[in-house]
Amino acid sequence: MKPAMWYLMMLVVGFFYVYLTAIQYIRGQEIHQPPSNYLLQYDPQYFDHNLVNPAPSLSFGYHNYSAMTDFLRAMSATHPNLTALYSIGKSVQGRDLWVMVVSSSPYQHIVGQPNVKYVANMHGNEAVGREMLLHLIEYLAKNYETDEYVRWLLDNTRLHIMPSMNPDGFEVAKEGTCQGGQGRYNSRGFDLNRNFPDYFKQNNKRNQPETEAVKQWVSKIQFVLSANLHGGALVASYPFDNSPNTIFQQFTSTPSLTPDEDVFNHLAGVYSFSHATMHLGLPCKPGAPTFTNGTTNGAAWYPLTGGMQDYNYVWHGCMDITIEMSCCKYPMASELQKFWQDNRQALVQYMGEVHRGVRGFVKDEQDRQVEGASMKIRGRDVGFQTTKYGEYWRILLPGRYTIEVYAAGHDPAVEDFTVVETNPTLLNITLRRTPPEPEVLPSQPERQELPLPQPIAVDRHDRPPRPSYIGGPNQLQGAGQKNQGGIMGFFSSVSDQISNVFKIFG
Ligand SMILES: [Zn+2]
Repeated sequence: MKPAMWYLMMLVVGFFYVYLTAIQYIRGQEIHQPPSNYLLQYDPQYFDHNLVNPAPSLSFGYHNYSAMTDFLRAMSATHPNLTALYSIGKSVQGRDLWVMVVSSSPYQHIVGQPNVKYVANMHGNEAVGREMLLHLIEYLAKNYETDEYVRWLLDNTRLHIMPSMNPDGFEVAKEGTCQGGQGRYNSRGFDLNRNFPDYFKQNNKRNQPETEAVKQWVSKIQFVLSANLHGGALVASYPFDNSPNTIFQQFTSTPSLTPDEDVFNHLAGVYSFSHATMHLGLPCKPGAPTFTNGTTNGAAWYPLTGGMQDYNYVWHGCMDITIEMSCCKYPMASELQKFWQDNRQALVQYMGEVHRGVRGFVKDEQDRQVEGASMKIRGRDVGFQTTKYGEYWRILLPGRYTIEVYAAGHDPAVEDFTVVETNPTLLNITLRRTPPEPEVLPSQPERQELPLPQPIAVDRHDRPPRPSYIGGPNQLQGAGQKNQGGIMGFFSSVSDQISNVFKIFG
């Protein structure tokens, strides 16, 4: 063969080699990407791929950040069809804020399926909840095939489990320390459960990375039900944590009730009565508070500003309660097995409560989903919104209700419905387009925007900030604005400081 032919052959072969390598490279890249629909919906930009095999059984001992990370990665590798690990951001010292999705479709949101979350260890020295959530992840994954209730739960619910919201604090907390504040705060000394926007008062605390990550997270995923796990007492506490008059509240234990008092009281009771002893309401030590049925309104116990549960409820329409699960904040590891026995049933039972009440879709006359429609149950003036798929959920006890729906460019809609005990009510609502008028948004007598404090105007998400309503005879005192200045503001802020120093039960 002539040299020229050789050169030509080599050129052709070389071309094909480069071409095939490029194809392989591109395909390989695709394989290592999470499914694109997951990215589209939730934008978990910190998806974890450093998964390891196999998952050893979880020991009853404390897991520091590195051991916890190893466990989560191993679980995710061992149960890829039931778990998916993602991080919502990083702590001040750069530790990942891990979240494990546990569901029969972990990488994909099934439209219509509700999201539930558990968050533990936001006070870094309250360590029991962190271990309980690791055990919960293992329990759910390992019992999916054999436990009918677990399978039903994972087939119909998307569970997001965050074992530690304050991994930096945990690293400096000490096992066997039942009280005190070492490790409670993030590494800049901030109490994360005083770091959220507040419904009643302006919160001037500097926004922390851990708090910011959670705020972004809950603005991207519509959580319907959640609980955050603490220690230092044994009680299920529910909103509101704050009240309009904190200076007097400090000494009078006045409840600060939401319009969903019946629902919150029920949810807290589901946990306390499914727990081995919480419902007894016994004091942790002589002279400590007792709690009827092991539940309490947050402010009736002690009021606080900037808590996470009020924020979840008011800003994001998520029913969130606070579980104080151990009298000792950081008990010896030898007690963990007993804590798991006491809490397992309650943790599993509580999540199922998301399948109670009313749910459905809001669509227009062309059957297109309406995103960001504002909704409220009449007489309950804290509202909620539809997701980008037009989905909505609201937990309600059995009874007759009226739902109101408002969406820009559409006529308001009102529907009556009934909720029963056994299963959620499915209610799809069709909105009629409002004919164009000079005045685009006629004022609604009952529709009054909740005055939101400035710091929460975070518009970086794919969904607008969630407004809520106030109005009617049960008008809640307006947040922030009404109460931030003047003498009451001063006293409130002093009483807050007193509260922060002395009231660190959980
Ligand atoms: Zn706590």
